[in-house]
Amino acid sequence: MVWFKRKSQGLVPQKKKDMPELWVKCPGCGEIVYKRELERNSNVCTNCGHHFRIKADGYVNLLLEPDSVQEFNEEIAPKDFLKFKAKKRYSEQIKAAIKKTGQKDALISVTGTLAGREVVLCVMNFEYIGGSMGSVVGEKIALAADVAMEKKCPLLIVSMSGGARMMEGAVSLMQMAKTSAKLAQLSDAGLPYISILTDPTTGGVSASYAMLGDVNIAEPGALIGFAGARVIKQTIGEDLPEGFQRAEFLLEHGFLDLICPRPEMKEQINRILDFMCADSPSSKELKNGSVEANKLTEAKISPPVDTDKN
Ligand SMILES: [Zn+2]
Repeated sequence: MVWFKRKSQGLVPQKKKDMPELWVKCPGCGEIVYKRELERNSNVCTNCGHHFRIKADGYVNLLLEPDSVQEFNEEIAPKDFLKFKAKKRYSEQIKAAIKKTGQKDALISVTGTLAGREVVLCVMNFEYIGGSMGSVVGEKIALAADVAMEKKCPLLIVSMSGGARMMEGAVSLMQMAKTSAKLAQLSDAGLPYISILTDPTTGGVSASYAMLGDVNIAEPGALIGFAGARVIKQTIGEDLPEGFQRAEFLLEHGFLDLICPRPEMKEQINRILDFMCADSPSSKELKNGSVEANKLTEAKISPPVDTDKN
C-alpha cells in the first residue's frame, strides 16, 4: 500500500491552490490561453486582443527602463479623519488594503526614463479599495506635478479607478479641484501631461485628471465614464447605445485622442513626447516663432528614428 508509506514519510499531496496557474480563460474570446504567452504580450490576448487588467508595477515596467525607476513619496499614508464606518470601518479597510497590495495608498509615483527621456509617472492601483481617489492620491499627484516642474519633464498618469473615495467624504471630492489646479500649473510651465485611461476609469477620476491630458490615450475596450450605465439608464429612462462608455465609443464622440493597444503604448507615447517636448527648443522660443525654433519644429515633425536599428 504505497500511499500509506508515503504518508508515513510525511509526503502530502499538493493542494490545488499551491499549483501555479499555467492557463487562463480569456473573457474576451473564451479561449484558453497559455499564461506565459499572455505575459510576453503585455497581458493582452493574442487571439482577440482582450486587455487583462494588470498591476500598477506592470505599467511601470511597461513604460520605463527598469534601472531608471525610483519611487518617491511612498510613505504618505491615508488617515481616517471622519472615523467613517459603513459595512466595515474605513480604518480596517485601509489596513486590509495595505496588507493586500503592499502599498500605503492607491497610487504610486515614480521618476524614470521612457526611451531615454526623463519623465514622472503615476500609476493607480485598482486592488487598493477600487483604485479610489482620496486625499493621498490627490496629494501624490500634486507632488508628482511639482517634481515634473522641478525637473522640467513630462508627467504621465495611468488611471484605473472607481472614482472618489467616499469614506473621505468631501475631502476626496476636493482632490478633483486640487489635481486640476496643479495640472493647470504644469500646463502654464509648458510641460506635457499625458493621461492613459485603462479599464475602468470612472467617477471623480474621469471627471478630473484622467480627462485633462494634453493627450488622452485609452486602452482598447476600457470602460470610461462618470456614473454607472445602470444609473444613467434609470435616470433618463432610455436604452443606452451599444458600446456606451467604452473607449471606442468615447473616441468616436471626441472624448479621447487615441486608443492604443498596450504592447504599443511605450512607442506611441515616445512618439508623442518627441513631437511635444521642448527638450531642444523651449516652448517659449516656439511661442516667439523665431526662425530657429521653427526649423527645429520641422525637424521634430519628421518620423522618429527607428530605435531597433541603433
Ligand atoms: Zn481572447
